[in-house]
Amino acid sequence: MVTALITHSACLGHDTPPGHPERVERLRTVLAVLDGMDLQRHEAPMAAEADILRVHPESHLRALREAAPEEGLVALDGDTFLSPGSLEAAWRCVGAALKGVDLVLGGQAQTAFAAVRPPGHHAERETAMGFCLFGTVAAAAKYALDHHGLARVAILDFDVHHGNGTQDLVEDDPRILFCSSHQAPLFPGTGAAHETGADDNVVNVPLPAGTDWPTLRRAWNRTILPRVEAFAPEMIFISAGFDCHRADPLGGMTLEAADFGLLTERIMEVAEECCGGRVVSVLEGGYDLAALAAGVAEHVNVLKGGA
Ligand SMILES: [Zn+2]
Repeated sequence: MVTALITHSACLGHDTPPGHPERVERLRTVLAVLDGMDLQRHEAPMAAEADILRVHPESHLRALREAAPEEGLVALDGDTFLSPGSLEAAWRCVGAALKGVDLVLGGQAQTAFAAVRPPGHHAERETAMGFCLFGTVAAAAKYALDHHGLARVAILDFDVHHGNGTQDLVEDDPRILFCSSHQAPLFPGTGAAHETGADDNVVNVPLPAGTDWPTLRRAWNRTILPRVEAFAPEMIFISAGFDCHRADPLGGMTLEAADFGLLTERIMEVAEECCGGRVVSVLEGGYDLAALAAGVAEHVNVLKGGA
């Protein structure tokens, strides 16, 4: 099976303060572990502005451009920073995810993994937050619908944090099913089970600290994946966060690296049924470098058809 890997060196040019968990070394480590794998490699293009404007108003782009420093760092909030290279990095993140959509829908690859940073799933319509500037996976989902003419897509988010930004960007669009499992209580504090979207198109599964793989697997098998099958998406997006690992400093779940492969296998089984295995996965969180690398290796190996 052909799996595309899309990344760009500009994603290494987004700097954060010393000691910040979302750091350049994350992507270096991810790229190093993927280095030996048989993947179809692509440079992430810049997204077109119109592709970002599907999910953010012009005022958001303007605010980020005005805040972006020519040198040093600017804090947008206590967690979220801009460096001189941040905007290009964020534009390339969206470009990478869109390129994944083009490759998979064009038949050049069956699956795609966008190895990019900063992450995106906390960015709300007009608010950068939680290390995130643009709603990368939401922009890619809207692109698949509006540009490629798909009728329905699903976004599956297994990051330990709730994808509040993705939910904000897609909850009023019945063409998109957004499903998230996440630890609660935890940043950003959203993602209660009663948050179900304007058209019952949002599925939130909050889980307590200490959640292990059997519990998470049950949540996906009983709650999330049946909803995906019923929705019958024509493409599946994954917000792939690896901070459910037991070693992660920001999360309190207890997954092992191999469990990310097992979860990806279940997602791929449903993707095969629904949409010929067409999956575009976008890197979100994961802040223990060794756990992140091991989790990504398991995830991408299964995207490639390995088990
Ligand atoms: Zn996270």
